[in-house]
Amino acid sequence: MAYSIDLSGKTAVITGSNSGIGLGIAWALARAGADVVLNSFTDSDEDHAIAKDIATETGVTARYIKADMSKAEDCRQLITDAGRCDILVNNAGIQHVAPIPSFPTEKWDAIIAINLSSAFHTTAVALPMMREAGWGRVINVASAHGLTASPYKSAYIAAKHGIVGLSKTTALETAEDPITCNAICPGYVLTDIVEKQIPDTMKEYDMSREEVIKNVMLKRQPSKEFATVEQLGGTATFLCSEAGDQITGTTISVDGGWTAL
Ligand code: NAD
Repeated sequence: MAYSIDLSGKTAVITGSNSGIGLGIAWALARAGADVVLNSFTDSDEDHAIAKDIATETGVTARYIKADMSKAEDCRQLITDAGRCDILVNNAGIQHVAPIPSFPTEKWDAIIAINLSSAFHTTAVALPMMREAGWGRVINVASAHGLTASPYKSAYIAAKHGIVGLSKTTALETAEDPITCNAICPGYVLTDIVEKQIPDTMKEYDMSREEVIKNVMLKRQPSKEFATVEQLGGTATFLCSEAGDQITGTTISVDGGWTAL
């Protein structure tokens, strides 16, 4: 069997892709030849400029579509507006850290909506398109926290465990189609979502930024290194290759050994 990663002719929709892992995945899929649809809930010149940069450098078609992944209707409309969706990457995510008794209900609702329910809504619209096209990949960005837990991240951990379950169910519902669905589980990657946690953790433990990174974050990651958005992009691209045809309903950890402990 030829091992190929040529995604020309495919369209990839990546939710939450104006920064971080989603943007890294968008670049990687575009470099493999896929047309890409980027997304977030904002609609700035910068958002559209990111798509333009990808198109200019790779030669694919790259568009930015505003859609708020906390809203079911926006999730569904994003896929409809994309017009085609061969590769769906459910990546949008937010985080909030607080003990359960004081965890704000609106934060719980937003995290479940953006990190979990959005993937259900986009997948519901994308699967018929994939069946019609005769090929498809659903890639859900979960987390090491989709397989393990930590205190004070109840909503995030519930959502990430939920998206692992949704990935398995999607895989079983598409098992006889030429469609696969898997969850990628990153450990720590130094993106905005992690940067936002650093100041509070510095205060909580009375540590410097370097100490928080070394003694709190990377302490959990046996490699003692952050994974990179390029490595996540490579993992998503691999799942879209022919080598990924029989990989479905599973989780792929990119976590420097976190979940092996
Ligand atoms: P990030 O903050 O850079 O990216 C989050 C993305 O989601 C951004 O593009 C943001 O605009 C988008 N987003 C937020 N709310 C949205 C909404 N309502 N509608 C549409 N888009 C919205 O952080 P990241 O690390 O790139 O996170 C991407 C995914 O990776 C998330 O699902 C996150 O949980 C997951 N993840 C990250 C890490 C890590 O260490 N960085 C580890 C495991 C999993």
